Amino acid sequence: MNEIPVRGRRLGIVIPCYNEQEVLEENYRRLSVRMKDMTGKGLISQNSLIIYVDDGSKDTTWSIIEGLHAQDRNVRGIRLSRNRGHQNALLAGLMTAKDDCDMLISMDADLQDDIEVLDEFVKKYLDGCDIVYGVRSARDTDTFFKKHTAHFFYRLMNGMGAQLVYDHADYRLMSRRALDALGDYEEVNLFLRGIIPLIGFKSDTVTYERHERFAGESKYPLKKMVAFAVDGITSLSVQPIRLVTFIGIFIFLASIIMLIYDLIVHFTGGTVRGWTSLVVSIWALGGLQLLAIGIIGEYIGKIYLETKRRPRYIIETYLKEENEKEDEGS
Ligand code: UDP
Ligand code: MG
Repeated sequence: MNEIPVRGRRLGIVIPCYNEQEVLEENYRRLSVRMKDMTGKGLISQNSLIIYVDDGSKDTTWSIIEGLHAQDRNVRGIRLSRNRGHQNALLAGLMTAKDDCDMLISMDADLQDDIEVLDEFVKKYLDGCDIVYGVRSARDTDTFFKKHTAHFFYRLMNGMGAQLVYDHADYRLMSRRALDALGDYEEVNLFLRGIIPLIGFKSDTVTYERHERFAGESKYPLKKMVAFAVDGITSLSVQPIRLVTFIGIFIFLASIIMLIYDLIVHFTGGTVRGWTSLVVSIWALGGLQLLAIGIIGEYIGKIYLETKRRPRYIIETYLKEENEKEDEGS
């Protein structure tokens, strides 16, 4: 235990918000109580922060954040130039706040992530962990559909070689050096929960119960969920392309056998029959080819986007403590 250097205790909690006007104030109320409690216990330093990232909200989210920042100097606000999605908003918050904090915890605005376990995150960090993953103990509050699609997704991803932490979403703690390492991953197609296990360092998990959304509705409708899953698979694994190659080889071999069979049938005089098998194979092959082209297209699309090296987020406004503003440029 003695080898672990004394670690700084300035915590930052990064919260991406997209149209969260119904929950933000309650979120702040509960979090600030929680953080005072943790400061009292000596777990975190007094100048710990809450960083709200407004992901181009169309409601009053930003003005609520401005209000919170005005009344509490431990609250910062980052406003993105437009809606860039949860992952990019989270990254914007992490990359912007990391240099001012010793550790950052990311969580959702809707209070689904249990803030009672924040202590455990920090304790594990103080014990020397650089990444602490929040893992859900049960999925009782999810709909039947979400629960099963989510489990299928984890199995699929791990089957394809990505190393996801089971039932871990984006509730996690990262130390400064883990965040610096994350900054070196420059991909535009962001799937944080797949990239972060690749960083390494000592890590651990904290189990928590996920509550129901406090108010408002999910910003992840089915369409976004499916897009997120496809993104996750294609940005972490090339297994699908390999699968296509294997199917191609298999079908090619099968077609050679078919050819031999066809020739035998031809010379023994039994042609014309076999319309069914012909039509079936045309459709099967056509379908497979389209599927294969589609999968390859997915990857080419990714390469296309990556080569552009477009910024992953653009910050419009950054609200931070008054007295720190002067040395912002240094
Ligand atoms: N979010 C975001 N940008 C988006 C969609 C969502 O910043 O385009 C935020 C949202 O405000 C919330 C978090 O991401 O803090 C998770 O979203 P949500 O709770 O709607 O997802 P669910 O819990 O239903 O999967
Ligand atoms: Mg939620």
